[in-house]
Amino acid sequence: MSGASGGALSLRGVTKDFGRTRAVEDVTLEIAQGEFVSLLGPSGSGKSTILMAIAGFVAPERGEILLDGRPILGLPPEQRAFGVVFQGYALFPHMTVAGNVEYPLKLRGIPRAERRERLAKALDQVRLGPLAGRYPRQLSGGQQQRVALARALVFEPPVILLDEPLSALDKKLRVDLQIELKALHERLGTTFVNVTHDQEEAMNMSDRIVILNEGRILQSGAPEALYNAPASRFVADFLGRAN
Ligand code: ADP
Ligand code: MG
Repeated sequence: MSGASGGALSLRGVTKDFGRTRAVEDVTLEIAQGEFVSLLGPSGSGKSTILMAIAGFVAPERGEILLDGRPILGLPPEQRAFGVVFQGYALFPHMTVAGNVEYPLKLRGIPRAERRERLAKALDQVRLGPLAGRYPRQLSGGQQQRVALARALVFEPPVILLDEPLSALDKKLRVDLQIELKALHERLGTTFVNVTHDQEEAMNMSDRIVILNEGRILQSGAPEALYNAPASRFVADFLGRAN
């Protein structure tokens, strides 16, 4: 199904400093509607900063970011329409699964009937319906992460931003969730931008991988293309190629 409309992103010459640290340097990147793109790089390479800039949470020093041709910082927050899942997936411990997922809808003043409908749909998309009445402490790490994902889906955003949502999970769960996320991506037809430092995860999940180091894009391409023709020693080493 491809019910999604919009979700094309353009980053043009994006540069972001934190004090004297240049976190992101001159990043230019086109992401097509419906693409699954992973930003892959070591810790401190600027991945999260790029994601936060796309979300409109940090303003770049230079450059601009467009969603479907319109500068995101000019859009009212509700039209930025990104679903964001962070590494820490902070759920509210005193709220049930349903309460957590419904919360952003309440904040926006969505009427009760529509809230119920959106809640049911989002829970269904991550197969959490049967656990709607549980509290976060009664869930596994993987289930908690799916709650965070459902909460990102309630507004049916054209772009989902994931910041290492799987990194805290053990290997088995991580692989299960990779498969689930891929299936979700295929069902929704939504653009996904996934931040990771896990080469295998990026290779498994992505239409395209963007390799970053020290705030700069080193290479970008389909997983096989990068693996078969790394543009530099760093890329080859980082992707785990022996030569
Ligand atoms: P990654 O997600 O790839 O690990 P980040 O985007 O978090 O990298 O960080 C890139 C660089 O920017 C790092 O040097 C980091 O220390 C710095 N940085 C990130 N956020 C902040 C912040 N809020 N204040 C100061 N420095 C920051
Ligand atoms: Mg990060």
